[in-house]
Amino acid sequence: MQFWKKISQEECSNYIDKALNNNVDFSKRVILGIPVSKLDGRVFYEQASFLKEAPFLRAIVQNPNHIGCHTLSESEVFFKGTQQIERELIELIAVDIFKAEQGQSDGYVAAGGTEANLQAVWIYRNYFIQTFNAKHSDILILASQDTHYSVVKAANLMNLEHIAVPVQEDTRVINEAELDRIVSEAKQRGKKYFIVLCNVATTMFGSVDNPDVYVQCLTKHQVPFKLHLDAAFGGFIYPVVNPDNNVNFTNEHVSSITLDAHKMLQAPYGTGIFIARKGLMQYVFTKEASYVNGMDITLSGSRSGANAIAVWLILAAYGPNGWYEKLKMLLYRTKWACKQLDEKGISYYRNPSLNIIAIKANHVSPQLAATYGLVPDAHHGAAKWYKIVVMEHVEVEHLQLFLDELRMQ
Ligand SMILES: *Cc1c(COP(=O)(O)O)cnc(C)c1O
Repeated sequence: MQFWKKISQEECSNYIDKALNNNVDFSKRVILGIPVSKLDGRVFYEQASFLKEAPFLRAIVQNPNHIGCHTLSESEVFFKGTQQIERELIELIAVDIFKAEQGQSDGYVAAGGTEANLQAVWIYRNYFIQTFNAKHSDILILASQDTHYSVVKAANLMNLEHIAVPVQEDTRVINEAELDRIVSEAKQRGKKYFIVLCNVATTMFGSVDNPDVYVQCLTKHQVPFKLHLDAAFGGFIYPVVNPDNNVNFTNEHVSSITLDAHKMLQAPYGTGIFIARKGLMQYVFTKEASYVNGMDITLSGSRSGANAIAVWLILAAYGPNGWYEKLKMLLYRTKWACKQLDEKGISYYRNPSLNIIAIKANHVSPQLAATYGLVPDAHHGAAKWYKIVVMEHVEVEHLQLFLDELRMQ
């Protein structure tokens, strides 16, 4: 770990204050030109005593705008203090979790995993257009059938075709023969460039796609491609408990990554994270964004700088070892539940590095699923699977209650 350290609460608080002090203070400096200020003082009273203990809430009240991307070129000078924290956060995740080399990544805190995935597809679509003079109809998005539906939004918004690659029913592994058939057939129809969304833990199953399967197939077919990792769910789990993997920047084919701090990290909503190798963000540069200093090359315009601070604070509060211990606890509970399922002869899917258990639906009545808030793979039509996500609030006692009732089915 080069950047990720456990930092005491007091040190964190001082560090955030220093950053906030390096932002513009509207009460001290005359600032006439920007449509920005601290939060409305009637509702968000700045002197409230609880703010003293809460660096994140202080940041919320100061309301820094992190519009743009701060890991490259210049940025709005008014918020340079907290932009620095966002830069440090992106570098920490890229280098310490996803094994990037120092100083080789760009990124920003997005609204969520959806935005980060859209940003990736937007970049690669423009890359193929600008580099190869591609037409939209020349480009195909490939992603497994278990991929989050944001890939469908991306295809629709970017005016690109998308094909879902089938997986094996019980192992959720990509069907290589089907992938090969899809690529052959797409080439015959005139597809020349491919954008791959590869899951580092699917939302429903926690299954991790092997990027090498895509790489081998597309290399064999001699077609240019770009590969993005959707680690919205697994990004703060899988590489931490399983550091020897091929889903990080040491894999030369991995160009960019999505994470969601508002899932496993329990950060406030609005903390998706997009990270890309340097040299890619520029493909979505909007030159008309002339009133913003620096480059606005993110899908969202204005966005709260407090979100970067929230994620930074959580990572600093645990440190890498504390976070690992917490994950081990969640995985212990998951394993415990799986053992009970094994003993009962109930079939399920689980990736051993993840905290999701997808139980075959024939073992679970809809009433039981409703009582325990299990989520089906399909809300319309017949469910084939119900999933449990072992989050912090899901304790062994709760799992036990559910499993006892499952026995009585
Ligand atoms: C949740 C999720 C998303 C979408 O994230 P939002 O933050 O809801 O926009 C995308 N991909 C995966 C794998 C997810 O689990």
